[in-house]
Amino acid sequence: MEDRIIRCSLLGLTASQLQTRFLENGLSSLDAKRVFPWIQAKSLQPFNVMTDVPRKVRGILAEKFSLDLPKCIALQQSVDGTKKALLEYINNDPSSDSLQNSYCNGIETVFIPEENRNTVCVSVQIGCAMGCKFCHTGTQPLVRNLTSSEIMAQIFFWKKIIEMPTSQENQAIIFSNHKPITNVVFMGMGEPLLNYEHVSCALQLLLGAKAHNFSRHKITVSTCGIVNEHLDNLSQFGVKLAISLHAADDITRSRIMPINHRYNIDCILAAAKQYLERSNTDYITFEYLLLSGINDTENDALQLAKLLGRIHCRVNLIVFNSWPGCNFSGSSRETVNHFSRTLLSRGIRTLIRKSRGSDILAACGQLRIQ
Ligand code: SF4
Repeated sequence: MEDRIIRCSLLGLTASQLQTRFLENGLSSLDAKRVFPWIQAKSLQPFNVMTDVPRKVRGILAEKFSLDLPKCIALQQSVDGTKKALLEYINNDPSSDSLQNSYCNGIETVFIPEENRNTVCVSVQIGCAMGCKFCHTGTQPLVRNLTSSEIMAQIFFWKKIIEMPTSQENQAIIFSNHKPITNVVFMGMGEPLLNYEHVSCALQLLLGAKAHNFSRHKITVSTCGIVNEHLDNLSQFGVKLAISLHAADDITRSRIMPINHRYNIDCILAAAKQYLERSNTDYITFEYLLLSGINDTENDALQLAKLLGRIHCRVNLIVFNSWPGCNFSGSSRETVNHFSRTLLSRGIRTLIRKSRGSDILAACGQLRIQ
């Protein structure tokens, strides 16, 4: 166990971070250049198969560094095929004060297979400080940010399962769909713009031609509406942005999303327009969760259409997924359809998002470590 704690994880280091870490440990830039693709592009090949790396260097790597994946504590499968994994992390970042007092903690990550794509939903924090009232994660206090290695570990974890389904202990989980991961969404536990340092490293790796080489159009970062300098930094990556709006007026939004007291709707919409200009993306996605008696009237829909009328956007209407102890109920199907029709009739591109994995608490807003 001690061995696992003191070795530094290389899973989430960008090429330049890897080089720095190697130089600090008496290895060379060339070593880093050779090792990087074995980790990222070739999906975590063990040190001993890195054939272009000198044997002596491989020995040092195995001694000082780790390519271990987190332990999977639980793996569940929904009736619709969505999978949710609970991963246990040990904080092994040597720059962290908690190294001496290493502790275990967990997050949930979700794999959503569909006919023409496979999406991984990653978490970026253990718990969340934003306290959105409708969100199960919001009831779990923020413990800490995940490191970039812990974020990338979620991608590697699902990649490994897809490639080698039979290696899973839980044989009841069926991975009949062996197509690779096509999309990554930062929509799990936590707020990406409050852990930007590590989220940006993960984005560099996901987008990097010599790493995972995802198209920027296949990656979505979701925010509850944080308008900080990192939103501008994020636009440099050109990835898709999803903003959780969930109300068409500030009074309602503040009631269900305390962050609205800090960044109100006007502020968010101005930031969204700026993101569009700077990121060269086609549209912003606004997430809108329909809560019965809270934000689902025709008037709400009309007001929303008025707000969004001049922004290139798409509205995702989300049917509320309940969780134990929550005080909200979802709008009826009829109300959801009417809301959608009202937006469409005002020229707003609108989708009713299909809920996935709600029976295993894997759907939007349902993640939480018990
Ligand atoms: S919706 Fe997102 S930001 Fe809000 S509490 Fe849940 S995880 Fe946090």
